[in-house]
Formats: sequence, structure tokens, C-alpha cells
Amino acid sequence: MTEQFDVVIVGAGHNGLTAAAYLAQAGRSVLVLERLDHVGGAAVSAQAFEGIDARLSRYSYLVSLLPQRIIDDLRLDVRLTRRRYSSYTPVPGTDRGLLVDNGDAAATARSFASIGAAADGEAWGKFYEGTSHVARALFPTATEPLLTRSEARRAVGDDALWDSLIERPVGSTIAETFSDDVARGVVLTDALIGTFAPNVDESLAGNRCFLYHVIGGGTGDWDVPVGGMGAVTGALYSAARAAGAEFRTGAEVTSITPDGVVTYNGIEVAAGHVLANVAPYVLERLVSSGLSSERGTSPRIETSRATVGEISTGSITGTTKPEGAQVKVNLLLSRLPRLRDSAVDPAAAFGGTFHINETWNQLGAAFDAASAGSVPDPLPAEIYCHSLTDPTILSPELRASGAQTLTVFGLHAPHRLIDPDEHDALRDQLEGAVLASLNSVLGEPIEDLLLTDGAGHPTIETKTTLDLEEALQLPGGNIFHGPLSWPFLEDDAPRSTAAERWGVATEHPRILICGAGAQRGGGVSGLGGHNAAMALLEG
Ligand SMILES: Cc1cc2nc3c(=O)[nH]c(=O)nc-3n(C[C@H](O)[C@H](O)[C@H](O)COP(=O)(O)OP(=O)(O)OC[C@H]3O[C@@H](n4cnc5c(N)ncnc54)[C@H](O)[C@@H]3O)c2cc1C
Repeated sequence: MTEQFDVVIVGAGHNGLTAAAYLAQAGRSVLVLERLDHVGGAAVSAQAFEGIDARLSRYSYLVSLLPQRIIDDLRLDVRLTRRRYSSYTPVPGTDRGLLVDNGDAAATARSFASIGAAADGEAWGKFYEGTSHVARALFPTATEPLLTRSEARRAVGDDALWDSLIERPVGSTIAETFSDDVARGVVLTDALIGTFAPNVDESLAGNRCFLYHVIGGGTGDWDVPVGGMGAVTGALYSAARAAGAEFRTGAEVTSITPDGVVTYNGIEVAAGHVLANVAPYVLERLVSSGLSSERGTSPRIETSRATVGEISTGSITGTTKPEGAQVKVNLLLSRLPRLRDSAVDPAAAFGGTFHINETWNQLGAAFDAASAGSVPDPLPAEIYCHSLTDPTILSPELRASGAQTLTVFGLHAPHRLIDPDEHDALRDQLEGAVLASLNSVLGEPIEDLLLTDGAGHPTIETKTTLDLEEALQLPGGNIFHGPLSWPFLEDDAPRSTAAERWGVATEHPRILICGAGAQRGGGVSGLGGHNAAMALLEG
């Protein structure tokens, strides 16, 4: 007898968990199938170094987009801590840097002046007043059915501001607003996280990325999850289980039929609705496989060495695979490194986002180099120290010893650089490029501060886009499951079904997207899960 559920959720990422909690609380029978042996997807904490009691946020690390409404509705025990320092950016090749201190406007203005960018200090305040205005107008709508473009524009109520952030390349706006190479670069990075785009991006993919980085919580702040990202996932998992959702891990889904038959590990279950927490690209393959087995044919599968890693359902001719563009490096250090810039306290520099070799000109040159097939030199990167704000992720012994974690997110390392046969060598090259970039702003080599784990290895781990594809089934290592979409519907987009109004529709009425690939879904937000659950409960 085939088991029947109201809802089967494919994938137990934090969005799948969010959907499961809402739907089970509403009395639906819910089964969650996860291919890994644990839940959380890209929002997990892990003991990354053998025998060392440090639980690092292995992939995602900061929270901005998770609405208070979801925390309240699901009564999640999640604590987020605000960082005092927004960012520190050394001026490349010098011993000076720009420190943006949220707690001291006068000190920030002095810091702009000290790098010869006093006018940009004034422009900075005004520019971010504008992004805050957009955040206050748009973020509260993220947990409601989508506005249309015209409605969103009216909600913002400032046509010049709307045009500068939505209608024309945000890179052009940045170049017109700021004149200093460092200041321009710091602002631009928000348009490039997980997005391979030039400084001035006519496709506006950079604008969409920028928007998601400045509207979270209605303020654009990026907060530290106390206990690491695993604490967020843990709270969602507890809520879903307490409400009665059933979980099966080690359960890899291999096909989904449009009428709701889901096959995992050779077992079929039937669902009133299927919620896909997997990327749309992966879902397409699972449904294609379901349709082929219904027809008794095999899906047409083509593997291309240049683009395909281990997405286990293969690549089907004719579809575009998303591309990620970052390298993530986690480090555990004996202490914070000394900086070249002796005027700034390392605790302040590492307390916010530390931008390295991310000036406007460097970002442009890095994009050109990566587009031409090379690892950029220097590699633009940003780092953040979790343990400064939240030492609970370290054992008491490590804390007492002064140990600190560092998370590095390197930009412009697109998936196209990877040849699967030379993957280990490229990972080494990217790791070397990240360390060299870091060392260019430090007063001592970072390598000297690494600890040694129980197996005798230095405490550093590096994840390429292909590593993410293999571990998490993120196509092309794209951290958002695919290109980000606007947080509103085009005026002429269909809106007749609840799934369309909530931005979670697929071409099959019984199958909804509930992950990062939903409209408004990218990042650690729970929005994909919340919005798919709302569509089901409304529809
Ligand atoms: C390196 C990195 C850094 C990031 N940094 C941040 C950050 O600081 N802040 C932020 O907001 N966002 C960040 N992101 C993005 C964010 O983590 C993701 O967008 C978000 O976690 C996606 O959540 P999800 O639940 O939609 O999907 P996922 O977390 O991708 O979960 C999908 C789940 O589906 C499972 N699955 C896949 N295929 C199958 C199958 N066939 N059968 C069963 N299960 C399957 C996977 O194993 C996984 O558990 C980062 C991402 C990465 C990778």
C-alpha cells in the first residue's frame, strides 16, 4: 500500500523545515524527505575540524532576511545579535583603512576623511537613508502575497529613489553617488554576493542581489545567530517535529510526478501536494524523471564536464544551469591576526564585515579576469569573525585560549573555472588566492595562526562551487538556487492562483517551490517555506 500524505516536502533545508512547521501546525499530514543524514541544508553548524570542539556555521553565517513574523508565529527560540561595526576596508597597498562604525557617526566621518573621502562620508549617510526607506516599504510585504511592480513602486513612493535602485544598474547609481574607489567598492559588494556580474550590470541581476542585501528586517542589518546557523535550523526542526511533521533522512528523491507521486530510495509515497525545497533546476529533473517513468521512457540526459558535477539526476538537454561565483573558507585561529593598519583595533575590524581587495576597480578587474577563465589576483573577499560576537560556538577551553573563527567569502570565483577532473588543484589554488588576499592586509601571515586538528591538518576548510553542488545539490554551486528575482510581480504576470500570488508556482498545480528558488526565497529567510505554506493553506 502506498503511503499517503497531505504534503510531501522534498528537502529539509531551513525552508523545508519552515513549511513543515506551518503546515503541520495547521493540521496537515506532512512528510519531509532529505537525502543527507541531517537537516538544515546550507544553514547548518558543523564540527569542521576533527577533534576540535568548535561548531562553525559551515555555509551561511549571517541572518538578515528572516522576518520576526516567522520567529513569532512558530515561537522559535532564535537569538540574533546586532554587530556594532558595519565594515572595515583597508586601502590596498597602504596601512590605512575605512572603518564604518554604526555606534559612532563622528568616528565614521573621521575615518572617511582619513582616507581622503570626506565627501563620500556625507553621501554614505544619504544613500543608506534611501535604502532604509525602500526596506521599510518592501520588507513587510515579503510575508504577504506579492505586490505588482506598480504597487511596489507606489509603496516606495519616491520615483527617483525607485529608479536609482530598481530601474537602472545599481552600479551606475553607485558610481554617480560616490567618487572614492574604496567607498564605491564597499557599497557594490552587496550587488555581487553569490552573483557573477560586472560592476555596471545592464541585466539588473546585480540590482536584485543588492536589494536582498539591504532590505532585510526593514533595516538591512546582518545579524549574528547566537549558537551559529545550526541554532536557527534546530529551532525550526523542533517546531516542525513538535507540530507532528514526519522526517526521513538518508531519503534521496529521484522522481516526482505531476499528480503527486514521489519516489525516494525506490519507495513511492503519494501526496496531495509536493513542496520542492530543492532548486528549480533540480526539480525540473525530478519531474522529468517522474514523467519518463510514467511513460516508460528514459529522460534525455547529457553531462557536460564544464558545467556538471554530481547533481545526481543529471543534466537534461536544453535547460540553463545556474552558476555560483564564490569560494567559502572557514578558519580556526589561535587568536585574531595583527593588521597592517595599527590605528584600528582588530576586534573592531573583524567585528563587522572586513572587505579585502574589494575596491570598485579591483572588483571590475576581478570580474574581467574570471570571465577570461582565470582566478582573480588579488581575489576580492570579505571576512567576518563569528566568535567575537558569539563565543558560544567554541568550547570553554578554546575560548579561554583566545581562539577565534574566521569566515571568508571570496567573490568572482565562478563555477565555469572548475574542470571536475582538476577540482582538487583548483580548490588549492582558490584557497591560496584567499590566503594571499588576506595576507596583503595583515601584519603577519595568517598561516602562522592556524591550529592543528586531531588528524594533524591545519584548521582550514575550503568549499568551491562544485563542493556545494556535490554536498547540497546547489546547481553550479549557486547559493540562492538560481538567479534572484524581484520581490514583486510584473504588472502583467498571471495572478489567478494562490501559488502565483505567493511566488511559489510551478507549471504543475500540485507542485510548489518552497525553497530559495521561490520568488523572494534566496538567503536564510524562511520566506520560501512560509510563502509556499500560505499558498497551500489559502488555495
Ligand atoms: C557558502 C554559502 C554562504 C551563504 N551565506 C549566507 C548568509 O550568510 N546569509 C544568508 O542569508 N544566506 C546565505 N547563503 C544562502 C542561504 O544559505 C541559502 O539560500 C539557504 O540556506 C537556502 O535554504 P533552502 O532551505 O531553500 O535550501 P537548502 O539549504 O539548499 O536545502 C535544500 C535541501 O534539499 C536537500 N535535497 C537536495 N536534493 C534532494 C533530493 N533529491 N532528495 C531529498 N533531498 C534533497 C538538500 O540536501 C538540502 O538539505 C549562503 C549559502 C552558501 C552556500
